[in-house]
Formats: sequence, structure tokens, C-alpha cells
Amino acid sequence: MPNVKFYFNHKLTGADFKRRKAWFEVRGQDAPTSRAEEIEVSFDFMMGADGAHSAVRAEFAKLEADSSKLSAFFDQHFPGVTSLIEPGELISSFETNPHLPLISIKCQPYHYSNSVVILGDAAHAMVPFYGQGMNAGLEDVRILFSILDKHAAAENNDPENPGSVDLAFQRGLALAEYSALRVPDAHAINDLALQNYVEMRASVLSPTYRLRKYLEEFLSVHLPSLGWQTKYSRVSFGNERYSEVVAKSNHQGKVLLRGLITVLCSPIVAGVLGLYWTRHRSLGWVSLLNTLRNPRR
Ligand SMILES: Cc1cc2nc3c(=O)[nH]c(=O)nc-3n(C[C@H](O)[C@H](O)[C@H](O)COP(=O)(O)OP(=O)(O)OC[C@H]3O[C@@H](n4cnc5c(N)ncnc54)[C@H](O)[C@@H]3O)c2cc1C
Repeated sequence: MPNVKFYFNHKLTGADFKRRKAWFEVRGQDAPTSRAEEIEVSFDFMMGADGAHSAVRAEFAKLEADSSKLSAFFDQHFPGVTSLIEPGELISSFETNPHLPLISIKCQPYHYSNSVVILGDAAHAMVPFYGQGMNAGLEDVRILFSILDKHAAAENNDPENPGSVDLAFQRGLALAEYSALRVPDAHAINDLALQNYVEMRASVLSPTYRLRKYLEEFLSVHLPSLGWQTKYSRVSFGNERYSEVVAKSNHQGKVLLRGLITVLCSPIVAGVLGLYWTRHRSLGWVSLLNTLRNPRR
């Protein structure tokens, strides 16, 4: 892209959005330890994509100051680890390997007037359990530019200047629309990323979770015309808005629950299940569900 210039080693230290000025610390590559020069830059439109840079969490900072407390910290928060890794090795691993905080940021709006917008992790850093952080940032770019293009194409109705366009005004409208559209989606994927940790850690072992997953996958493969999909495939393999994925998944859950209750409450099914249950009570629910899935067993 001939109109793009890269400036490495330029660290933003501050900005005045009203006066449209930004200050950068510039450190020479050949003399990285020398005192940094500070430069002022005027801007028309700033896009902040500077990630989720943050100070190390206070709790870990404490541990770095005194790593002898590491064993007690693990015993309290991650019981069982010190019986597998002996304390000396744990302290040595902690001191030699870099440890980064997991960050989850929800903020709004994502713009200031018509001059600034934040994208990617700067706007919505999330925990990595859905593998969607980078994807959400790329989606930001796609959605922002489609909205900017839409507003740039619009004309104003100034009778003095028919057909003319006030670019800053149009951009302000575009940024406001972007924030309004994107905030609920970014907040939704932020929540989904947190929930997916619990899902991967424990829910995958639950029979009700597995039954739902089985039914949803069955419906999506064998009856695609119903438009049924798992939440994971909607998030990972499509362009649906994250907030709509959550709404659709909740709706699917309710429909499945109602269907299941209806089936279980029908007299014949209830009778057969009751008979089976009294005979095979000791086998438990998992065995019952397995039998339902594979009646020949
Ligand atoms: C463990 C882990 C696993 C992940 N797994 C996945 C995955 O499987 N799939 C996925 O899609 N995403 C994943 N992510 C998330 C993904 O890495 C981030 O969402 C993505 O890198 C964010 O891109 P970004 O451009 O917004 O920010 P960054 O990649 O953080 O880039 C920000 C840039 O701004 C620069 N910068 C910071 N401060 C300043 C300043 N003051 N002045 C000037 N420049 C500055 C930084 O040097 C950096 O170059 C994972 C993240 C983690 C931590």
C-alpha cells in the first residue's frame, strides 16, 4: 500500500483529542538506551490499535518481589500443583519464564467525536479461551470501513453547496454508528470467551451439555434447512454478529428444553422410561443416555 508508512519505536505517550495532537517518544534503534526524543504530531483522524498493554497484575507483582510465597500462592489458588512440581522447581520456572496477565476489557463508546476510534484489543481485549481476539479485531476493521464508506458516499443537503460533503461531520456520524453497533457484539464475545473457560474445564463432562451438543450437531447435519447450529460453529465459522449468536443460541436452548420436556412427558415415553429406570436404576443417567443414542447396545 503506497499510502501507508510504518514508524517503528514510536511510543504514544499522550494525546489531546480536542486539539488533535498526539505525543510520541521516539527511541533510536542504534542507541536504544539513550534518552528518548519526544515529538508532537497533529492528526485529523486517529485509530488506536495499541493492544491491551497493561501493568502486571498487582498480585503477581507482589510475587515477583518475594517468590518464597509462591508455594503458598499455588496451594491457595491451584491446589495440587505443589505435589506435582517441587517448590524449588516451581520458583525457578516462575523466575525464568515470562508470565503475562489475561485481560478482559469492556468499555464504551469506542470513538471520540469525529477524530478518534479504538480497535482490536485496545477496545475489547478478551481472555483467549474462544480464540476470537484477533478475529474480533479484524471484524472491527471490516465493519468500521463498511460504515465509513457508507457515510462517505452520503451527500449533505446544504442548499448553498448541493452535493458537497462535510467529511468530518459524516465521519462523526459513522463513528457513532460504529460504536453503537460494535459495543454489544464486543461485550458479547468478551462474555463468551470467559464462559468458554468454564465450558472447556467442566461443562464438557456434563450429560445434559453433551446431550444438547449431540442434538444440535444432529439437527445441523441431518436437517440443515432448520438453520440449527451449535454456538461454537456460529461464532467460529460465520460472520454473524456475536450478540445475535448469543440470542439465537439461547433461543435454541429453550426450544430444545421444551421439546425434551414434551417428549419426556408423553405417556408412552414416560412409561417406557419409568420401566427402564426402575430396572436399571443402578446404571444411572449416563448409561440411559448412551442407550438412547445407541439402542442396540
Ligand atoms: C495466550 C493468547 C492466545 C490467543 N489466542 C488467540 C487465537 O487463538 N485466536 C485469535 O484470534 N486471537 C488470539 N489471541 C488474541 C490476539 O493475540 C489479540 O487479540 C490480537 O493480537 C490483538 O491485536 P491488536 O492489533 O489489537 O493488538 P496487539 O497485537 O497487542 O498490537 C498492539 C501494538 O501496539 C503497540 N503499542 C502498544 N502501546 C503503544 C504505544 N503507547 N505507542 C505506540 N504503540 C504501542 C504494541 O507494541 C503492538 O505492536 C490470543 C491472545 C493470547 C494472550
